[in-house]
Amino acid sequence: MRASKYFIKTMKETPAEAEVPSHVYLLRAGYIKKVAAGIYSYLPLGLRVLKNIENIIRKHMDEAGALEVLLPILTPAELWKETGRWDVYGKELFRLKDRHDRDFALGPTHEETITDLVRQTVRSYKDLPLNFYQIQTKFRDEARPRYGLIRGREFVMKDAYSFDISEEMAIKSYEIMKETYHKIFKELGLNYLMVEADVGAIGGKYSHEFVVMVPNGEAHIVYCENCGYAANVEAAKYEFELDKLPPEEEKPLEKVYTPDVKSVEDVTKFLNVKPNKIVKTLIYILDDGTPIAILVRGDRELNETKVLNYFGALDMHLATSEEMEKLGLVEGFVGPIGLDIPVYADRSIEDLHNFVVGANEKDYHYINVNMPRDFNPVDIVDFGTATEGDPCPVCKSPLKETTGLEVGHIFLLGTKYSEALKANFVDKDGKEKPIVMGCYGIGVSRLIAAAVEQNHDENGIIWTDNIAPFKLHILALNTKDKNIMEIAENIYNISRGLGIEVLLDDRDISPGAKFKDADLIGIPYRIIVGKGVKNGVVEFQRRKDNEKIEIPIDSVENKLKEIFGG
Ligand SMILES: [Zn+2]
Repeated sequence: MRASKYFIKTMKETPAEAEVPSHVYLLRAGYIKKVAAGIYSYLPLGLRVLKNIENIIRKHMDEAGALEVLLPILTPAELWKETGRWDVYGKELFRLKDRHDRDFALGPTHEETITDLVRQTVRSYKDLPLNFYQIQTKFRDEARPRYGLIRGREFVMKDAYSFDISEEMAIKSYEIMKETYHKIFKELGLNYLMVEADVGAIGGKYSHEFVVMVPNGEAHIVYCENCGYAANVEAAKYEFELDKLPPEEEKPLEKVYTPDVKSVEDVTKFLNVKPNKIVKTLIYILDDGTPIAILVRGDRELNETKVLNYFGALDMHLATSEEMEKLGLVEGFVGPIGLDIPVYADRSIEDLHNFVVGANEKDYHYINVNMPRDFNPVDIVDFGTATEGDPCPVCKSPLKETTGLEVGHIFLLGTKYSEALKANFVDKDGKEKPIVMGCYGIGVSRLIAAAVEQNHDENGIIWTDNIAPFKLHILALNTKDKNIMEIAENIYNISRGLGIEVLLDDRDISPGAKFKDADLIGIPYRIIVGKGVKNGVVEFQRRKDNEKIEIPIDSVENKLKEIFGG
């Protein structure tokens, strides 16, 4: 491709709305263009990247025996009502009506549609197993679309769904997908981790996430360098047995005057106790309006996802000052003793003795509190968040913490959807049984952003070889110099002959502008045709390290063969 006939629209300035590197560089290098909040057009360069990722995914899914289909984006409300998700999905589901006033949704995911297809077509165990996948546009009405392709309202996903006759077989299908995902992310050339994940609102038995490691990513991961355990902090089990304080004799309960002493830090200083002897009482309001109190040790963080899962709630929030007042609670001094709200305790306070809690009275705390003597929680549950330094639940080594971007998620769904939609098959024994399902997603457009977040410098993008829109960038530095142009054209033709996806910058602009654009666009290999041609050399450069080496013009072909094969 010749740049003079292509669509290179780079920008010097960072657009105001772009906060993260991938958003900045994808806009500045002319890969995408914003249409509305969370909605983007893919420009020619961006579409090449998207197609490259799609093709790698498609190749490995096909090899794994999955069958590609294309389901409609527009899905009737009836299907969503059958599984109950028409109500459950809330505001994130894009809803619309047709001219006959019938309800439809723009699919954020396709469990309903695919299960409907299977229930209409599969009769017998002989029809199974099946694994259908598609690469398609999805919609989610995000409250705060942001970070460009990381959190959009319209995005491209690969979603796959497996159908099996038993849980045992479904686990086999799940394992095949797990291996397939490893192959895909390796070929994309990204540094990633597979982590144990929370099953969340989609439901199901167990699941794993594939997370591309990037600084300041949305996904918080704990991992063990010793045994390889890795989990999303939302799902990580916390190994409390190793963190217990030594047993103590119970002391008598005492109410103490603590004027204006509200936070764990304040209490620590005022009463001269360690944070692990203070118990925080957090008041949450569940999505159905029910208030709950959750106790967690002062040195531990509460994991809201674990709380939501326990209560089967989709949403909850910390009680506001107004709500606290309505409930008759004194902000900063709430405690479990004599509280009218159901109290649940995190496992971090199990076996804790002589601890401090709020006294439900302004400027007072209780000290030497003990369970069950002074109060009795409804339940004691693992609500804690694992963090750096906590013991690994497998081998007890200290865990490390890092962040990443979730780009893949696989679930063993079980029969949740097949039962709701009555997707049954007749087994060998003649009995009708629900089909056992799994589902497997990859955020295709998000992967573009993840790749840039992981691979860039202060000048622009550094694509991995298999994702890059072009593999080789030839910079003809002076278009008025016949000799330079002739050699650049010659190398361009050799490259095309070798089947290399090549971009020749033959635009009539300054060498400096060409280098700036080349750095921004991020094509992995570069040949610079400039003044050196007089001496029979061109320069070869890798975007990764920007180191330039001179090579004789007549050895360019061999150099290209060495890098690209062929
Ligand atoms: Zn370990």
